[in-house]
Amino acid sequence: MKTGIVYLVGAGPGDPGLITKKGYQCIEKADVIVYDRLASPRLLTAAKPDAELIYVGKSPDRHAMKQHEINQLLVDKARAGLVVTRLKGGDPFVFGRGGEEAETLVENNIKFEVVPGITSAVAVPAYAGIPVTHRDATSNFAVITGNEDPTKEGSNIAWDKIATGIGTLVFLMGMGNLHLICEKLMQYGRPADTPVALVRWGTRPEQRTLVGTLEDIAEKAKQAEFKNPAVIVVGEVVNLREKLSWFEKKPLYGKRVLVTRSREQASILSRRIEELGGEPWEFPTIRVAEPEDYGPLDKALNQLSSYRWVVFTSVNGVKLFFKRLRTLNKDVRELYGVKICAIGPKTREALENYGLLVDYVPGEYRAEQIITGLEGKVQPGDRVLLPRADIARKILPQALAEMGAQVEDVVTYRTVLSTGNAGELKEMLERKELHVLTFTSSSTVRNFVELLAADNLNELLEGVTVASIGPITSSTAKELGVKVTVEAEEYTIEGLVDAILKSNI
Ligand code: SAH
Repeated sequence: MKTGIVYLVGAGPGDPGLITKKGYQCIEKADVIVYDRLASPRLLTAAKPDAELIYVGKSPDRHAMKQHEINQLLVDKARAGLVVTRLKGGDPFVFGRGGEEAETLVENNIKFEVVPGITSAVAVPAYAGIPVTHRDATSNFAVITGNEDPTKEGSNIAWDKIATGIGTLVFLMGMGNLHLICEKLMQYGRPADTPVALVRWGTRPEQRTLVGTLEDIAEKAKQAEFKNPAVIVVGEVVNLREKLSWFEKKPLYGKRVLVTRSREQASILSRRIEELGGEPWEFPTIRVAEPEDYGPLDKALNQLSSYRWVVFTSVNGVKLFFKRLRTLNKDVRELYGVKICAIGPKTREALENYGLLVDYVPGEYRAEQIITGLEGKVQPGDRVLLPRADIARKILPQALAEMGAQVEDVVTYRTVLSTGNAGELKEMLERKELHVLTFTSSSTVRNFVELLAADNLNELLEGVTVASIGPITSSTAKELGVKVTVEAEEYTIEGLVDAILKSNI
């Protein structure tokens, strides 16, 4: 029988980019992933489709699984011969009870490895613009549990020593005891005006920072209802934040942006949102599928050199065109002598990846513009192939036909409704956890509305920025009762992002 293994993996503090390569590989290869609240749920998208995902953290409607139950779970799954990835927030051996889990594994003769992670104790202050050490402020720092009642007899924490003996103090799990922690430090000689920062949900879009002093931070936190999970940073380094704050200054800081494009196409937009400090939330409303009947496409592919022009209108069109060409045991040489038009820069790029130069790209990326551009280039009698989606608009083939061309509009792929977790999406909209919705085509809006199936759409979208890639998408949205707040000037992903940035969300 296959022997199992457990990887104790640090998932980092929340920003999914802050995981190690090795940790990420452990997610990819796991049969079972055991995770808790502090590990970014976005990392789970890297799991194998059939991996078992087990949540063991606390949630409002469920009790957390007890530590001995988690230990047992790891043992049982590994004994069953499975690859188990135990994903823990930050670093697994910094207050993560990873040590206890490892001990259990040793006692049960289970193979295991530890993959360290970036601890919140250092990364969260960094995202708030606070270096835990600085030559001018301090040359040491300590990470301390804030979970222990500071008034307890025989405390494990030497309050008298840390109060003045260490420059920067980082407390984890300390919000419940904040008041007592501050008291204790002052009692043992740390000046009352020592700066303190609280950073909640650090490195995530929800990151919030509150600054005060040992004397007043507890009261301020109470006023602001500042809760866990937060890191408490005590020391002069906190003052550097004024100068070094960077994450909280990013243009999309604090914004969660819904990406409705198909899974294959989402990444460009998602990456851009991340770069700007926002959190992309991928919820593909469309899925690209093969044509129901390959007959017409195969016929066209078998006589490619008989066309004067091939007009590609999307990246999907390009990809599926060449995929099918390959299936038919043919390659780009079939396009010898054929002129190529691409509707936008991304489509052009996709064609260039196949080693093809594009003869014409219109200045504006709409069917209407292509038509004007092709006038004079397409001659009466020319055969023009349009390898497109099943639901593409008819305006382009009609106009080409009016120029006297013989147009063949051939279904190369289908755009179908994707089946995402619409319930979760609805809940996020109800809780106002989505700040921007992006729509990159009419079908993304149509399917979004269909999947949501909400009778209170207006209410759900109240206060939410709705961004559309162009007028056609906007008018579909309007028809369906979705109020568009911003529209791209240039009908590209970049244009869409620019419009969001200009909208002052
Ligand atoms: N192993 C983890 C710590 C687990 S203890 C690590 O190395 O980071 C849990 C505590 O970590 C929380 O109570 C909080 O104090 C801190 N924490 C973890 N992630 C955090 C985040 N994103 N923002 C603020 N605090 C965080």
